[in-house]
Amino acid sequence: MCQTVTDRPEFQYIAENYKEILYNVENARAKYRSAEDKVQIMAVTKTVPPEKVNFAIAQGIDLLGENRVQEYLSKKEQYDPSAAVHMIGHLQTNKVKYIIDSVDMIQSVDSAKLAGEINRLAVAHNKRMDILVEVNIGAEESKSGVSPQELLPLLEDISMLENVSVRGLMAIPPIGSGEDVFARMHEIFLEVKEKNIGGIQMELLSMGMSGDYELAVKHGSGLVRIGTKLFGARKYLEV
Ligand SMILES: *Cc1c(COP(=O)(O)O)cnc(C)c1O
Repeated sequence: MCQTVTDRPEFQYIAENYKEILYNVENARAKYRSAEDKVQIMAVTKTVPPEKVNFAIAQGIDLLGENRVQEYLSKKEQYDPSAAVHMIGHLQTNKVKYIIDSVDMIQSVDSAKLAGEINRLAVAHNKRMDILVEVNIGAEESKSGVSPQELLPLLEDISMLENVSVRGLMAIPPIGSGEDVFARMHEIFLEVKEKNIGGIQMELLSMGMSGDYELAVKHGSGLVRIGTKLFGARKYLEV
């Protein structure tokens, strides 16, 4: 007997988790945000097999987040193509060529060099690529992202690139961050938006993961990136 994608009792916990996340996001949104604000829920797929990802898509997930180019390439043919895909992991300049045609956004842009390579390949492929600029809001040495001080000059550089469209900012507040860190990131987002830099849009703040997504929604996030709370604990440690 051929199983359909939804006929998987062993994956039922993913449906329950998704309902809970939806409920919590909607509560935080209704409590703290204006009526027209939308918050997207992204399923972060690292280490998760494609059949589980497709089960999540069948529950209503329409956006996937990918961290690693190799892992994504090994899984993408098996994904239900109805979901959009964003690259959210640190991206090496020499790997852009592998994903330029298959992702809908690159959220982890943190240098002029990387943006330039995305632009070069976008031109060659006759497309525009939407990006977010990643801000290292926790000033963590191990994390990627541009410092808040370097953000404006970088945005100005990127605004010159014809085939790259900046749509907003992405941030990963360090685990256990106080609320002030989320509030500060939102402030930075609003400050940049106010500057109205030509050629870029500031419409999306991507912030919030399993442990802090409600706090992120409270502080202006328009996209929460959820792995563990949706799919369960990952099988290997992050590096
Ligand atoms: C892994 C990851 C997430 C999801 O983390 P969880 O805590 O499992 O929800 C979100 N964003 C990025 C950039 C990640 O690498």
